[in-house]
Amino acid sequence: MPAETPSNYQGTVLQVAVPSPLRRVFDYLPLSNKQALPGTRVKVSFGRQQLIGIVVSVSSGSSLEKKKLKPILAALDSESLLDDSLFQLLIWASNYYQHPVGEVFATALPSKLRNGVALRDSTRVWTGTEPSPQQGELLGRAAKQKALLDFIRAEKEVTDHEVRQAGFSSQLLKQLELKQLVTEKSRAGAAEPAFEPASKVTKFEIELNEEQLSSVTEISEALDSYTCFLLDGITGSGKTEVYMRVMQEQLAKGLQCLVLVPEIGLTPQTVSRFQQRFSCKVASLHSGLNETERLTAWKQARDGSAGIVIGTRSAVFTPLANPGLIVIDEEHDSSFKQQDGFRYSARDLAVIRAREENICIILGSATPSLESLHNARSKKFVHLQLTQRTGSKQNCGMEIIDVANETLQEGFSEQLLYRIRKHIERKNQVLVFINRRGFAPILNCQTCGWICECENCVTQFTVHSNPPSIRCHHCGTAARLPRACPQCKSKDLNTIGIGTQRIETFLQSQFASTPVIRIDRDSTRRKDSLQKMLDQVNKGAPCILLGTQMLAKGHHFPNITLVAILDADSGLFSADFRGQEHMGQTIVQVAGRAGRADRAGEVLIQSRHGSHETLQTLANDAYSKFSEQQLQERSSAQLPPFFHLCLLRAEASQMQPALQFLEQLAKMCAGFSQHNSLPIEQLGPLPAPMEKRAGKYRVQLLLKAEKRGNLQALLSQLCIELDTMKLPRSVRFSIDVDPQDLV
Ligand code: ADP
Ligand code: ZN
Ligand code: ZN
Repeated sequence: MPAETPSNYQGTVLQVAVPSPLRRVFDYLPLSNKQALPGTRVKVSFGRQQLIGIVVSVSSGSSLEKKKLKPILAALDSESLLDDSLFQLLIWASNYYQHPVGEVFATALPSKLRNGVALRDSTRVWTGTEPSPQQGELLGRAAKQKALLDFIRAEKEVTDHEVRQAGFSSQLLKQLELKQLVTEKSRAGAAEPAFEPASKVTKFEIELNEEQLSSVTEISEALDSYTCFLLDGITGSGKTEVYMRVMQEQLAKGLQCLVLVPEIGLTPQTVSRFQQRFSCKVASLHSGLNETERLTAWKQARDGSAGIVIGTRSAVFTPLANPGLIVIDEEHDSSFKQQDGFRYSARDLAVIRAREENICIILGSATPSLESLHNARSKKFVHLQLTQRTGSKQNCGMEIIDVANETLQEGFSEQLLYRIRKHIERKNQVLVFINRRGFAPILNCQTCGWICECENCVTQFTVHSNPPSIRCHHCGTAARLPRACPQCKSKDLNTIGIGTQRIETFLQSQFASTPVIRIDRDSTRRKDSLQKMLDQVNKGAPCILLGTQMLAKGHHFPNITLVAILDADSGLFSADFRGQEHMGQTIVQVAGRAGRADRAGEVLIQSRHGSHETLQTLANDAYSKFSEQQLQERSSAQLPPFFHLCLLRAEASQMQPALQFLEQLAKMCAGFSQHNSLPIEQLGPLPAPMEKRAGKYRVQLLLKAEKRGNLQALLSQLCIELDTMKLPRSVRFSIDVDPQDLV
């Protein structure tokens, strides 16, 4: 124990995580020792504000002197809101991602709890006071009062309503209260009971094929403790069936299952697939919930009344009373990484959480991330493979149409149009994929070469046709289509490049008698519009389905026999080192939408670089070969998953202050690395590939190390330093550990 000096206090102190950008906890005095409970919420005064924080730890003293310590204003909970493992996970995440602990805890709570709403609704109840010899006298001959008192004593606790229901008047109750024979207190609502573990939790079963069976067997044998499985199975190979079979085993033991899915994967159909199969309650957590619904679902998970909890990224922080299994579907999906604020990876945290809880986790995908494949190779994960489509479904062949020397019509080669026509004639459906919405990505002046750009972002405006407008896809700015060039007044403006709207018009003119259904962010803005379009496709009549990334996940289109991929080249030569990985994943995922029924499917990739090795591998071999090649390239380029990255980014309305600030940090980093002999490479500071976004200039400094530990050591030292520094007010600074997006 530290010697007591005038400047430090000895006694119970609460260390509170307050939602503030500071990377530390704050000391407060409890109102009583009963409140010294980690994981509970407290209301505190913080500067001039009153905030709700979470007690992170309780210590027996503070480095501050007593008069500097403020008592908390109120304790809001009598029990910890978070179970132990989750609590540890949040602390770990705060350290690993170098994010303020107060904001990390705030992320984990539904906003109602963050704002101080009680965990349990409480009701007012009446109870009898301690019986004493004077009571007989007090009651005298008031027989009715005695009857009511007996009733209350017999029931122990009764509400006003119950008193009236039993035939007593409120008047009588008042009289007993005046005589201090009864008293009113508040009773917190009870937790919902945990769900019933039934041996028959499932409503029906499908007979598994051999590969599925051996995966299920292998996972089942490991269910007693932590193992991470990578379930690497092509689209339609029945991964979900495998998850469900393992979930069934855990549910039968009364253990809960947490299922995380990508943002666009959490559809009512996904949830109902689990509801139809299992008899237990399924709590779903997604962005469409209102705050009351969110709190209800969160409590069902925490109380253990929901057997299955299914949600997107942030659901990884849902407390579970009886955790038994975590499943991450489409683990490669980039929506598992939060791209702003607390930049965590839900997939990575889920693995840490499973280890902390000592339970199994299954990461499933048809196109596993290179990170997970690397972990499987180095035996951190157990690699399970499903290579066959279930039932009679056929795998489809991929083919490249090389258009290197061809003039395209609105992005289409003769051959591609011919092939589309063939499929339509055979009364089949066709899917055309291009990951660019709008009409055209560039508007320029034919006379002087001016390009229409968003001033906030210094990138081209995208031309939209309906309504005619220009829109920035980075900051959302929209304006009317200019009639003339602002530079030379010429009216000769031209659109370059293609987007979904332009293709829609073109395909309508080419295939006049076939409906063209465009699915992108613009066409699905209205509620239910996506569902309506999907319903039309599912009716099965010939049509051309045209769309973006939104089509790459979750939907099954049994009547589609041709998938055409128009812009593979943009991924091939992307500035982002993950560009090719993402392109490969998207192509394989989109291809997986086709040929699900008994008709054979075809996938055509149109490219100006048809002989490019990456495309060839993708088309001629499987994703496994493609990913193998990508891993080799990453290894020789010393990039993730072999090396680890951290991106320090500064944004400001001028370039200079942002650059100067990062230059200062770069010097500090270099100093630390040298002093501690940490082999860390620094790249930058440099303007980001996207130099300006939403009016802010962006500069970045990339740190790279072979060992995570070294990077972590450097970052923690840097953050200690940062917290004592006065940051320039004009600069917004962020740290992104394991960044997904370097643009
Ligand atoms: P994935 O998640 O790998 O894309 P799903 O689990 O969604 O595949 O399975 C695709 C379809 O095949 C579903 O309709 C599912 O019910 C069905 N299915 C799964 N396993 C089997 C099986 N062993 N026999 C027959 N059909 C199956
Ligand atoms: Zn001009
Ligand atoms: Zn913009």
